[in-house]
Amino acid sequence: MAEVAGIHVATEHWIGGAWIASADTFPDLSPIDGSLIADIARGGKAEANLAVAAAKAAFPAWAASAPAERARIMHAIADRVEGRLNDLAVVETTDNGGLIRSHRRGVMPRVAHNFRFFADYLIHDLHLPDFDTRGHRNHVSWDPAGVCVLISPWNAPLMLATWKIAPALAAGNTVVLKPSEWSPLTASLLAEIARDAGLPDGVFNVVQGLGNEAGAALVAHPDVARISFTGSVPTAKTISAAAAANLTPVSLELGGKSPFIVFADADLDLAVAQAVEQYDNAGQVCLSGTRLLVESEIREEFVERFIERAAKLRQGDPREKTTDLGPAIHPRQFARVDGFVQRAKADGAQVLLGGGPNETLGGLYYRPTLLTGVDADSEISTQEIFGPVLVLHSFDGEQEAVTMANHSEFGLAAMVFTGNSDRAHRVSAQLVAGTVWVNCFFVRDLRAPFGGSRMSGVGREGGSWSFDFFCDVKNTVFAPTGWTSTEPERVDV
Ligand code: NAD
Repeated sequence: MAEVAGIHVATEHWIGGAWIASADTFPDLSPIDGSLIADIARGGKAEANLAVAAAKAAFPAWAASAPAERARIMHAIADRVEGRLNDLAVVETTDNGGLIRSHRRGVMPRVAHNFRFFADYLIHDLHLPDFDTRGHRNHVSWDPAGVCVLISPWNAPLMLATWKIAPALAAGNTVVLKPSEWSPLTASLLAEIARDAGLPDGVFNVVQGLGNEAGAALVAHPDVARISFTGSVPTAKTISAAAAANLTPVSLELGGKSPFIVFADADLDLAVAQAVEQYDNAGQVCLSGTRLLVESEIREEFVERFIERAAKLRQGDPREKTTDLGPAIHPRQFARVDGFVQRAKADGAQVLLGGGPNETLGGLYYRPTLLTGVDADSEISTQEIFGPVLVLHSFDGEQEAVTMANHSEFGLAAMVFTGNSDRAHRVSAQLVAGTVWVNCFFVRDLRAPFGGSRMSGVGREGGSWSFDFFCDVKNTVFAPTGWTSTEPERVDV
């Protein structure tokens, strides 16, 4: 058991309705000051087997329960998430360094919303009207697939995990969650909340541990029906290879290097404000528009206004309400970010803002950084950095903007700022991205599909797309009453 600001959090695995310890532990450090928060149970194959077995045993009853009963429990979970909003926010901030302000106002309410949305969606929105084929009635159903292994990253741990957990449970599946070893704690609080809300034992399980141990054992397990992963491209490739051995379907939400395109006709106040937002969560957001593509004729003015605004960002302890920019999650991530920046500088990049660690604050605080004067094929322009580092390029005209935007192995998101609606339509239609935001950023609706093209992912989450993944979609064809034909027949329509 750990204690975070007076809040008790379990450090064991949650399996089959019980807290289970492991012989080994791993240290969970706070990015805020590097202090040890807790030693967490270090799961491996044995714990993975136990959790999958518990989820498998709980599956038949949960799958057979009425959707309305599942929805009732999911709403009870949401009620308790709302009741413990502050506990969840405090623990998440301590564990991953995200802003307490965002966790209280946006992230944790969204966790509750994830449960409510998918509980209600299943009941009210997920159906296809029956249809006839020459008198035969087709009925499409979404049947739960079985045990779902869900693997989440550290940058928005509980929000991203519950985006998977909620549809999986609503559909009648049972779940084994493996949270990131860099932010393991809120998963334990969620297990407690789900238990208190009346979720039957074994329906939701948490295995703590390292990716290449607990994670690897879970994704290779033959009794797993679905794997949903959010994280990096290299891990996705490893998981896909393991899943292929059992032909387990995989959903992958991966990284990005999204273009943030500003045309000369854009509302510059808006574009600059939204561009500075790309430093949100210290740049540790998959969707960040880390490539600022600005039309040449406004480049100078854009840069001036961007720097003026970004310089006002308050960097510091994420537990303070006034802080805009917290620390990097982990010394390894911090070193990775700095490595990219220092190599770019050595290659001749011009530093317009930041360019290194925040020496005043020390620790894992990296200054918001804007670089330019680099080639479109340079490392800093093409690789996902996952820190507060943006790179600026300029372009001339629509076609060049589109070409530069699509010049990436990723295709997660794209932002377009323009005052011309015809251009907005023309440009957005040509962009390769799972989400395009026109004159806005981060507007999310759970009914909409979310995911990435190219190396940014496989599949989509949200609305019916989540259920399509977590279910075996089945078509049942009923012959009309009195149908007596014994002739072999094939009816194609
Ligand atoms: P990561 O790939 O290092 O780890 C993600 C999770 O995978 C962790 O829980 C880790 O323990 C687990 N893992 C690692 N190796 C594994 C293995 N061999 N088998 C099974 N599980 C394994 O990613 P990260 O550093 O935690 O997260 C950052 C990445 O996530 C970035 O690339 C970011 O863009 C991406 N991300 C994408 C989205 C999205 O929705 N597209 C959202 C947030 C983050």
